[in-house]
Amino acid sequence: MNIILLGPPGAGKGTQARILVEERDMVQLSTGDMLRAARTSGTEMGKKVAAVMDAGNLVTDEIVIGLIEEQLTSTESKGGFIFDGFPRTLAQADALSQLLERLGQTLGAVVEMRVDDDALVARITGRYTCANCGEGFHDELKKPKVEGVCDNCGGTEMKRRADDNEESLKTRLMAYYRDTSPLIGYYYAKGDLAPVNGLGEIDEVADAIRGVLKQTKAA
Ligand code: ADP
Repeated sequence: MNIILLGPPGAGKGTQARILVEERDMVQLSTGDMLRAARTSGTEMGKKVAAVMDAGNLVTDEIVIGLIEEQLTSTESKGGFIFDGFPRTLAQADALSQLLERLGQTLGAVVEMRVDDDALVARITGRYTCANCGEGFHDELKKPKVEGVCDNCGGTEMKRRADDNEESLKTRLMAYYRDTSPLIGYYYAKGDLAPVNGLGEIDEVADAIRGVLKQTKAA
């Protein structure tokens, strides 16, 4: 089954995607991760997107649709794909629907993760990840058991995203409300929307997602 994780920055899409990958043998397609990889690769495209991302603005539809198409047509997944951070505009949603149709695939559900704005700001401004395995931590909300050491892999190098600061976050939230939130209505009208409360503990949210996926047409 293919699913979309939809929600504002900081809603926990990446965290939940990691759990779904483990449990359901799915493949996570995160346009944010793809773009971050592109910028470190030093390609022309990478250089173009770096400044746009750091400021918190959306990269062009053309670039992200191209990235998704490339991954989707070249990757096998038994458990299906999780679209994380894509689509983010109505044009991207239309492109995804056409792409899936061309590949003979369907969308099982659009899981909308609901989190209020104060919580988003608190989550994002304190978060960091293990540079080795990508496990997520937070200065107050999720400290590692031993300071500076990853609970998951023992790694000691931690990193923070350049766009996880208050200024860029404002721009990212604005982009979410302006360009991405219309997708909630779009997928509701298609009968694909499955809202979950994203405010609880990580395990509680994962449980809520398991619950809604059981009820979807492609479960
Ligand atoms: P978050 O959901 O925490 O904001 P992501 O890692 O999904 O973070 O995305 C980081 C940045 O990458 C975005 O602010 C934007 O600049 C760019 N980006 C990611 N996905 C898309 C997309 N589908 N369309 C346009 N820009 C994107």
